[in-house]
Amino acid sequence: MNDASKRSLSGDAAGVSEAAAGAILTIDLGAIRENYRRLKAQLGGVRCAGVVKADGYGLGATQVASALMKDGCDIFFVALLAEGLVLRKAIGAGPDIYVLNGLPPGSEPEAVAAGLCAVINSGAQLTAWRAAAHGAGRRLPAAIQVDSGMSRLGMAPAEVEAVVKDTGAFAGIDVRYVISHLACADEPRHPANEQQRLAFERLRALLPEAPASLANSSGIFLGPRYHYDLARPGAALYGINPTPGAPNPMLPVVGLRAKVAQTRGIEKGTGVGYGHSYHAEGPRSLATISFGYADGWLRRSASAAWFEGVRLPFLGRVSMDSIILDISAFPPGKLREGDLVELLGPSQSVDDAAGHAGTIGYEILASLGTRFHRRYVDS
Ligand SMILES: *Cc1c(COP(=O)(O)O)cnc(C)c1O
Repeated sequence: MNDASKRSLSGDAAGVSEAAAGAILTIDLGAIRENYRRLKAQLGGVRCAGVVKADGYGLGATQVASALMKDGCDIFFVALLAEGLVLRKAIGAGPDIYVLNGLPPGSEPEAVAAGLCAVINSGAQLTAWRAAAHGAGRRLPAAIQVDSGMSRLGMAPAEVEAVVKDTGAFAGIDVRYVISHLACADEPRHPANEQQRLAFERLRALLPEAPASLANSSGIFLGPRYHYDLARPGAALYGINPTPGAPNPMLPVVGLRAKVAQTRGIEKGTGVGYGHSYHAEGPRSLATISFGYADGWLRRSASAAWFEGVRLPFLGRVSMDSIILDISAFPPGKLREGDLVELLGPSQSVDDAAGHAGTIGYEILASLGTRFHRRYVDS
């Protein structure tokens, strides 16, 4: 990738310069594209969308969508209308953009003007989209979401049954997909998967005939019966393991490195950080990095950084803008102000960090802060 296209990919024009930032977030768009191709291979001939809600799981919805479009991805899912409006502006007309959480009442004309596709989660949303189609004087695209057993979004079975009694319910609506979402797809042996699939079968048979979509990232690995006509992966695109407990079939996408702000030596017994939650058991060499919970690194998150493959444990509490590392493993002067230590990368994957923190990779990515220097690369 040349410099010009790198610049054009870097989201907000100004960004944060490398010199000014405390940490550098590297996002490998080439790896995201390769992950998309791996998922497509897993899907055989089935179409594959890209889920780019929450600003592309924190990695930049515009950059991710633009990269996936190069591999022919032309369907995107966001959670909120606000995200859909931003994405439409950024990627232009062409790809379909679905708003998973449904359109807020009254916002339909704005969604129509932006060329967004509604995800219809209720009878009321169906009525509103039908009215919007009438107002626009043309058929409007939508996906009907049904609740096959997650109890989160979509029409409940009773509501589907009630809605379809009105033969004009879908007048003016171009039902492109019937969709549903799996609650337990990352547990292949969980009985809810098959229960949801059967409920989905039953509900879609009641609705206007349309292609179907059920699988998220992990759902793709439940096998062809879960593939239907369109898959909707998010996490796996971003390198999160869609098959927990088995080796990760995806490439890592994210690198995060923080700058050393200062180093020091301390004597045995010296207190370290807020609350003096740590006292040195002996002489220690410390490095303070410009990175803390304001950058989305939760206080409970992974408790070490890495430098040249050496683990550097956190000492004391994570501060808002800094973390203190034990660098006693290195000879004095080895690690200096301005050096970069790894928080996410070859030594510590997103899933590793999540495991240490008792959370999931999704939360690690979605929590990533906004004051990094972001570097988009294409490996
Ligand atoms: C977030 C989401 C997805 C993507 O899920 P992943 O587990 O990240 O692949 C797909 N469909 C719906 C309805 C979602 O909310």
